[in-house]
Amino acid sequence: MNIYNIKINLHLKMLSQISDISDVLDKALSGQELSYHDGIKLFEETDMFLLGAVADQIRKKLNGNLITFVSSYYLNYTNICAASCPLCAFYRKEGDSDSYVLSTEQIVSRTNIAIKEMGATEIHIVGGFHPRLGLDYYEKIMMAIKKEFPNVVIKALTPAEIFFISKLTKNSVKEVLSRLKDAGLDSLPGGGAEIFDNEIRDVIVRGKCSGDEWLETVRQAHEIGLKSNATMLFGHIEKPKHIVDHILKIRELQKRTKGFTTFIPLKFSLENTELEKKHLIKNESPSVYDLRVIAVSRLLLSGVLNNISVYWVALGKKLAQIALKYGGNDMVGTAFSEEIFKAAGKNTGTSVEELVNLIKEIRMEPAQRDTFFNIIKKFG
Ligand code: SF4
Repeated sequence: MNIYNIKINLHLKMLSQISDISDVLDKALSGQELSYHDGIKLFEETDMFLLGAVADQIRKKLNGNLITFVSSYYLNYTNICAASCPLCAFYRKEGDSDSYVLSTEQIVSRTNIAIKEMGATEIHIVGGFHPRLGLDYYEKIMMAIKKEFPNVVIKALTPAEIFFISKLTKNSVKEVLSRLKDAGLDSLPGGGAEIFDNEIRDVIVRGKCSGDEWLETVRQAHEIGLKSNATMLFGHIEKPKHIVDHILKIRELQKRTKGFTTFIPLKFSLENTELEKKHLIKNESPSVYDLRVIAVSRLLLSGVLNNISVYWVALGKKLAQIALKYGGNDMVGTAFSEEIFKAAGKNTGTSVEELVNLIKEIRMEPAQRDTFFNIIKKFG
């Protein structure tokens, strides 16, 4: 047992005199699976510094000292959306002066820049629910990218987009996924999960698939061999019970499919959203809450899904550094050309060098990974 374990155990003993939460932390440290009620307790009773120390200890046991990121380029192919989610600052309607749809040529041209000038290994393609783009639009994009750049990973279309395309084109989800995989799709981003609970979902999204439909779409993607990320949008109107419920649903699906590569808790960005304009939410969540969500995610998913990603675009770079000491082991990526959080007022610019420095500043070891968490390069 090292000094770190000793300190944690001492702290646990002290805490056990004033709280029963040490049982839950003990369970987590010994690798036992936590229950729904354990998750709720972690939110309501725990000293957040102790929670962070336990999450960090588990992170270290599972992931060592490496903090990873992928060199990714974001391509938001359209901002036109048939939905109108109150949480979203990105969408436009057809005919709006700043609405757009990228052509296949534009997408290949940007991919060329992303790979040759920026060193991207992954093209992350997401957009609005365009009401008139057929399946052939997406197939053409993927085939054109793979023709020019056979080795780049295409991570495209959230499960929510896949579900929408399936309804729009009257193809089954399986048919859509299979055709896109044949065209070059390698992996799915995890967006659109938001919060699975229907009551919360009904307030923050409008015109998007249900939580169950999101989960079933992902299950089918995993079934045909596609990997995906899992996400959760927090920091709006949810309560701890919704967070715990959401994470446990991800955990259960991961046990069945083993298809998730990472879990990304996404902090909600308020600016320019309907939720802000209608004064339904006045402030973004406090940093202590954000850190607690990261730590609880680590504890609840430990042993089942061992990558917890910290999305610096939403958290901010400095808080992201601290989150890497609260259970996170991955910084997602460079997110070159990100537009969705930018629309909600976030600074989305970075470089590989900056991510490496941010990780080194907290005395961890930076490593560039690919989409599937294979290490490409360590930075010492
Ligand atoms: S969150 Fe996605 S589905 Fe909802 S309005 Fe924005 S772009 Fe459309």
